[in-house]
Amino acid sequence: MALDATLQRVLQRNWFVLGEEVREFEREFAAWCGVAHCVTVANGTDALELALRALDVQPGGEVLCAANAGFYASAAALAMGAVPGYVDVDDGTLTLSPAALRQALAARPSKPAAVVATHLYGQLADVEGIAAVCAEAGVPWIEDCAQAHGAERGGRKAGSFAPLACFSFYPTKNLGALGDGGAVTSPDARLADRVRALRQYGWSAKYHVSERGGRNSRLDELQAAVLRLKLGHLERQNAERRAIARRYSEAFEGLALRLPVSCGADNAVHLYVVRTAQRETLRAHLLARGVASDVHYPVPDHQQAVLAASRAGVRLPVTEAACASVLSLPCFPGMREEEVDTVIAAVRAFRGQEHGQEARAC
Ligand SMILES: *Cc1c(COP(=O)(O)O)cnc(C)c1O
Repeated sequence: MALDATLQRVLQRNWFVLGEEVREFEREFAAWCGVAHCVTVANGTDALELALRALDVQPGGEVLCAANAGFYASAAALAMGAVPGYVDVDDGTLTLSPAALRQALAARPSKPAAVVATHLYGQLADVEGIAAVCAEAGVPWIEDCAQAHGAERGGRKAGSFAPLACFSFYPTKNLGALGDGGAVTSPDARLADRVRALRQYGWSAKYHVSERGGRNSRLDELQAAVLRLKLGHLERQNAERRAIARRYSEAFEGLALRLPVSCGADNAVHLYVVRTAQRETLRAHLLARGVASDVHYPVPDHQQAVLAASRAGVRLPVTEAACASVLSLPCFPGMREEEVDTVIAAVRAFRGQEHGQEARAC
């Protein structure tokens, strides 16, 4: 088996952290994303934190992000003593709204230290709009691509738009290891070098510390070797995800559901997420028919227990409405035709109180 051979190759080399497999994976993944540099780290949250540090975000500095994206950017900002600030999302893509970002920037007495845009559920954010607003304001930005390996627009892939971009290789992501893993990509050699130093004690060279805030966040050789193997399947697996999403969206046309805005190349379909005012009844209906579903994510960041007291005045209408209505349906590579049929039949059999013409196929 290919996986056995891969693991054996690493075991026989007897070198387990930051070696040949890591170097080769970094080279291959950078090329795959169409970006000059890739630096692997221990997980996606570390990728975000080290990217913020590489941009010189200081403790107390503000990091603007969306509040519907699972708290990962918030956790990374808080971990380094920065302060997350929230911007509403676009009602179609559910990703950071450039218009809301422009307003948020105009309303602030001082510039935030950085902006994080998450390609939520695999849907590429409005990268052109966000890049323009950030450039105008002179604020650096970061792409969070942890759900969007391979999403692309105009021949450019997620991870190639911002000065720094972050990936997670947690097992359930579109590209997943057999444990934790992450990476930062960048077109900028200086920023990539900073992340490389930060992931290993702040070293510029062995035992020579040049970067403040360095620590241990390394990828191991076994994970890198597995990721090299799985990278070869990513394009096909993303195509499978998109094909399932297209079947769903066609089948759900005319139902009282809001559907993803795209099932095309700009969506890596990490999750297939519908919106409905009757989420809990639909969930129960699906479960009774053997269809599992989940909510990504039920609580917006500014309403999480750790922040709620300090964010009582924050209002994000689109974000809050989305968190109350999103429902993720089963969608993964290797899902069988009959399984997709079962989900479609179960959703179509749902008779809620609400009858609208909201659903439109993408
Ligand atoms: C999974 C995920 C992360 C965090 O990655 P970990 O490897 O679990 O630390 C960050 N951002 C988003 C959008 C994610 O989905």
